[in-house]
Amino acid sequence: MTRRVYLDNNATTPVLPEVLEAMRPYFGERFGNASSIHHRGQETRAAVERARESVAALLGCRASEIVFTSGGTEADNLAIFGLAKSGDHVITSTIEHHAVLNACKHLDQYRDKYRGGTGCEVTYIPVDGRGLVDPADVKRALRPNTKLIAIMLANNETGVVQPVAEIGKIAAEADIYFHTDAVQAAGKIPIDVNKIACDLLAISGHKLHGPQGVGALYVRKGTQLEPLLYGGSHERSRRAGTENVPGIVGLGKAAELAIAGFERGDDQGMTAARDRLERGLLEIEATGLNGADLNVAGLHGEPAPRVPNTTNIYFDGIDGEALVIALDLKGLAVSTGAACSSGAIEPSHVLTAMGLSRERAKASIRFSLGKQNTEEDIEFALTLVPETLARLRDLSPVYKAVGSK
Ligand code: PLP
Repeated sequence: MTRRVYLDNNATTPVLPEVLEAMRPYFGERFGNASSIHHRGQETRAAVERARESVAALLGCRASEIVFTSGGTEADNLAIFGLAKSGDHVITSTIEHHAVLNACKHLDQYRDKYRGGTGCEVTYIPVDGRGLVDPADVKRALRPNTKLIAIMLANNETGVVQPVAEIGKIAAEADIYFHTDAVQAAGKIPIDVNKIACDLLAISGHKLHGPQGVGALYVRKGTQLEPLLYGGSHERSRRAGTENVPGIVGLGKAAELAIAGFERGDDQGMTAARDRLERGLLEIEATGLNGADLNVAGLHGEPAPRVPNTTNIYFDGIDGEALVIALDLKGLAVSTGAACSSGAIEPSHVLTAMGLSRERAKASIRFSLGKQNTEEDIEFALTLVPETLARLRDLSPVYKAVGSK
């Protein structure tokens, strides 16, 4: 039987056994609607509120500031469409996940779509070669009608952590709302909404070993959000619809386990495993770390601050998708970038925004670790990638032309 190793945890993480156990009763005997006033409802209401406390503890906020959603995409959309109105200006970055980028594009196109209306204007802040937004660029982009700044905490393709606390300070000084997409940061690095000084922050269950289809938006007390969905008065009228109780319970448990992991220092172990994988892969010729500024230091450069589990490496002379498929046939799951962009003809918008050529962006692979990965998994990847790559490069006329670095 083929051994299967999964190093694509930024696409989704496996649900931890403790999370599954916590959810199980809510698919069975604890089936009540959390809005019902009888015993069945009270039972599930209590579970939802416990989960809200756990998510609030993960983010350093009050439970009442957590709105449960169907995932990261909905949380991002609620933040953006909940605040931006016709005539407003919004600032975001070129490397956001499509959940933010396409929501902003929609705001932008609103102008042409509804003639006569002013719509919203959006400024897309570029990044440097390490994938970092410069807070000074954000400050320069401010206008009198700027309503919202939406800049992500950790990038899903590179893991690069943005200077969100500095951006939060700029937003607070200018009295502008600040939303940060923390979907790829939650559970990987400690988060404190007050240190970031954000008004809104999105997370997603399935990126921190919770279930798919559930997420949360932190909404700072006093923030007036227009709901996306109209219906009942669930989630204090901020998100209508019967709560996904098993999902919410799973997210709550995943948040508790993430906090316990930080207390144990699991993130340090994760960093060590990622670094070992990265060092090993960078020994292969004609490779390099995306997000490392070659001018800063060393052969491969000093990487930007990153979450502990992600590395993004280019392998010159090959097609990334071909390598992903070849590795998968041998039992290793990795990716060329965001799962929702798989199969896209265009190279990654994140890597090209960082200045990579189309060829190099298309020759790049993201490796992302999860809590379930072992030392043996890293060894497996370190054996499999060089031999698979060598085979592909032997077949590649492009690689022969490129030569070694
Ligand atoms: N934001 C980021 C940075 C992500 O990586 C993802 C998922 O890949 C999302 C938002 C969307 O989250 P969800 O899959 O829960 O809708």
